Amino acid sequence: MSIEVITFDLDNTLWDVDPALLRAEQAQRDWLLQHRPGAIERYDHKRLWEFKQSVWKRHPHLAHHVSQMRIQMLYELQVAAGYDEASAREGAELAFDVFLQERHQVVLYEEALGVLRSLSRRYTLGALTNGNADIYKTDAGEYFDFAFLAEDIGAGKPHPDMFHAALEQSGAEPGQIVHVGDNPEHDIQGARGVGMRTVWMNSQGEEWPGGERADREIDNLLQLPEAIASIVASRP
Ligand SMILES: [Mg+2]
Repeated sequence: MSIEVITFDLDNTLWDVDPALLRAEQAQRDWLLQHRPGAIERYDHKRLWEFKQSVWKRHPHLAHHVSQMRIQMLYELQVAAGYDEASAREGAELAFDVFLQERHQVVLYEEALGVLRSLSRRYTLGALTNGNADIYKTDAGEYFDFAFLAEDIGAGKPHPDMFHAALEQSGAEPGQIVHVGDNPEHDIQGARGVGMRTVWMNSQGEEWPGGERADREIDNLLQLPEAIASIVASRP
């Protein structure tokens, strides 16, 4: 059995997510300040985080639906400030749209496009993310054959449903897939749990947290083709 499919985590694997998240949070705040005065002024970063956590606690069924969770938080912020339900619902959708637009303005690692282009000539490429980024809204979209968000599947990595979605979509056996990601639990343990091969993208030079390591480790996407080649070469 050869390797046929490579699946990628997105945030902190193909790009740094923090700059896009910061801009998105700021755009959301600006929208609320302008269109729903009183809703967010009293929340600094720390208090907004606490408010978010209280929303998560009250809506555990939304745990893997990051977009719905944010819309719920935006709704509750406005209701708490005295807005009626209809304006709060509408405001939540509009503020979320503004958030999402910035959230999608990710900057791919500069080596990403070339590596993905070259891998896409030989392999089927897929995206598996627990976040709400859309690979098809980036310049790398043309190289991807499929993409699944945890909120579409109803479960996030390391839950096997995410990886099963990739198996079903590609028609490949688990041993024909290499999953690449930065999160030891979500990406490496999760993919290994369904029998896939794994590459740990460790761009920050983190210590491996313990447990069985990934098949290969890289700190830059330029090392990925060689890592994949050596997985192929090492197969029985
Ligand atoms: Mg990640």
